[in-house]
Amino acid sequence: MTNIPSVMWAAVTRDWNDIQIEQVPVPDFGPDEALVRVGACGICGTDLKIFAGVYRGSWPPSLPFIQGHEWGGTIVALGRDVSGLQVGDRVVAENHKGCGTCANCRAGRYNLCEGARTRDPAYKLYGHSAQGAFAQFAARPAVLLHRLPDTVSFEESAIVNQGALGLHAIRRCGIEPGDTVVVIGPGLIGLVTMQLAKVTGAARVIVAGSGPRLDLARELGADDVVDVSKTDSLDGILKLTGGRGVDCAFECAGASSAVATSLNCVKRGGRVALIGLTGNVPSELNTDRLTLDEIDVFGVRSSPNCYPPLITLIASGRVNVRKLVSRIYPLERIAEAFEAYRNREGGAIRMVIRF
Ligand SMILES: [Zn+2]
Ligand SMILES: [Zn+2]
Repeated sequence: MTNIPSVMWAAVTRDWNDIQIEQVPVPDFGPDEALVRVGACGICGTDLKIFAGVYRGSWPPSLPFIQGHEWGGTIVALGRDVSGLQVGDRVVAENHKGCGTCANCRAGRYNLCEGARTRDPAYKLYGHSAQGAFAQFAARPAVLLHRLPDTVSFEESAIVNQGALGLHAIRRCGIEPGDTVVVIGPGLIGLVTMQLAKVTGAARVIVAGSGPRLDLARELGADDVVDVSKTDSLDGILKLTGGRGVDCAFECAGASSAVATSLNCVKRGGRVALIGLTGNVPSELNTDRLTLDEIDVFGVRSSPNCYPPLITLIASGRVNVRKLVSRIYPLERIAEAFEAYRNREGGAIRMVIRF
């Protein structure tokens, strides 16, 4: 067993929009948990919202709180009931822990655990309602940890959490060989989803968005792009498909206008995956279009059972996430990293804290 200190450095959200680097106790770990030395942890849009107090009372339940849910690290100690993992293993952590016993958990849909509704303490959402990983160490149930091949860096592991959402979207939507798809919103999820669509058999991938992210989309394999700062997104997508529309649309922008575009840009009989959150802003829905053209619409939440295949695809080089790590910061500069991400400096996709 590695020498484990009793205290560690952590970034503690003390008050809304106030983060401090403090010494705190290294977390205890239960018999079915592992203690992990954090290697890298990404900062996402949800972190900024949690930090600003948008979800106060639930994410987090109270302050002070340690955020951070997109991370990987090295196991330093194991609870007595853990099997299949070893001290020294490099791992990446899921953040949704289902209760394990409700009907959805038993069906493998632990992202929809009923425990979230009934406030079952066995349900945990790490970094949101349970302590996160902007800290030197984090304790997690072993079931949430997945081994990382040596070729996948900790910085890349910080992309897996959000990237896996794209994989879940593709499973929900069901891409067929030869499909034409559009990805609306070339942020992190969009840029991973776009690559996964190609890996899964899409013949043509269109990306709709604006700014330097469109160049990155092209670099990562987009066949066509629609610059929504110059063209109406729906017109642009329809024009590229001869008016027919795409087979599948992935809404990754989280804007109600993009939701409307996604529902209208698919072919008759097309499929739509809604991944972005609009923050409860309603979207216009022409249900006649959905009914008369038999459009299938899929909500996509989190990434159940998606880490292992995504890790394999990253390790094989079929999915490139290196280019999605925009800047790396040490823990001491996390406040600066939050600020830079809020301003999306340099068109940032992801800021990552490296320990
Ligand atoms: Zn996130
Ligand atoms: Zn459950």
